[in-house]
Amino acid sequence: MTAQIIDGKKIASDIQIELKERIKILNAKGINPKLVTIMVGEDPASVSYLRGITRTCSEVGVTTEPVKLSQDITQKQLLGKINELNKDKTVHGILLFLPLPKHLNALEAESAISPDKDVDGTNPISTGKLLLGEETFFPSTPYGVQELLMRSGNNPDGKHVVIVGRSNIVGKPLMGILIQKQKGANATVTVCHTGTKNLSQITRQADILVAAIGKAKAITADMVREGAVVIDVGVNFVPDPVTGKNKQVGDVDFETVKEVAGAITPVPGGTGAVTSVMLMVNTVRAAEKAAGMA
Ligand code: NAP
Repeated sequence: MTAQIIDGKKIASDIQIELKERIKILNAKGINPKLVTIMVGEDPASVSYLRGITRTCSEVGVTTEPVKLSQDITQKQLLGKINELNKDKTVHGILLFLPLPKHLNALEAESAISPDKDVDGTNPISTGKLLLGEETFFPSTPYGVQELLMRSGNNPDGKHVVIVGRSNIVGKPLMGILIQKQKGANATVTVCHTGTKNLSQITRQADILVAAIGKAKAITADMVREGAVVIDVGVNFVPDPVTGKNKQVGDVDFETVKEVAGAITPVPGGTGAVTSVMLMVNTVRAAEKAAGMA
């Protein structure tokens, strides 16, 4: 059996079409949804993520303003900038790139972002609400995984979802999203990590297996139950033996796992394609809420 390929690019494009309609309505009221990104220093991964965000913003019609702060900024100056953006009524979303330089306190900075503008869901208030099943902004990567599942016809309701990885940005919030007694969730969720014994015995029980590990091709065909849905969040770069250049691969050994799985996301073109669009979804929702429309 060869798996159905879940096309993240097509799903991202469908979401963009829906967003453009919502933005038109906002524009007609004189509102331009605006996302401000804050980068301290020049972390290469953040620079690359910013490029993707800027492209997606311009595709959908969200205004974006990158704030670049010097590497040696103080915590007080960073908090001052966040507070200034919190007060600015033309700004609907604030995204703070991590990691921050070591002398800065990331948790304090994330906590300073107004929950109304916390479109990447990193303020502990947003995290707490997510876990409580209260309305809040979901972090874009796990939110994207939920959208991929729903829009590919793989509703997690009643399914056993096994997540490999417990990071604060992917594994834990995804668990919090999918265990809720809510539409698009209501799953039985198991979270695995480096302390998990007999990992493959657990992954083989998954109806839906999510890999968020950060290790190239760590999930192999023998770890996957026949017919399972496999969502690969991983982004790794390995040398391509043919070209000699680095190529992007996921945490799943795509070529072998696709012969066992029922459905699978490719890398690239799977979860990554949807992540930055979900940031736009949250920014547009923040603008709608600020206008009393949501
Ligand atoms: P992370 O913070 O490094 O967390 C990795 C998690 O995987 C940890 O919980 C770790 O367990 C677990 N793990 C590592 N090796 C394992 C193993 N052999 N067996 C079981 N569990 C193992 O990574 P992350 O930030 O969540 O990112 C994960 C991957 O997703 C990376 O490739 C990243 O580039 C990618 N990513 C993609 C997107 C996207 O939009 N597609 C967004 C964010 C991240 P411990 O907790 O025990 O250490």
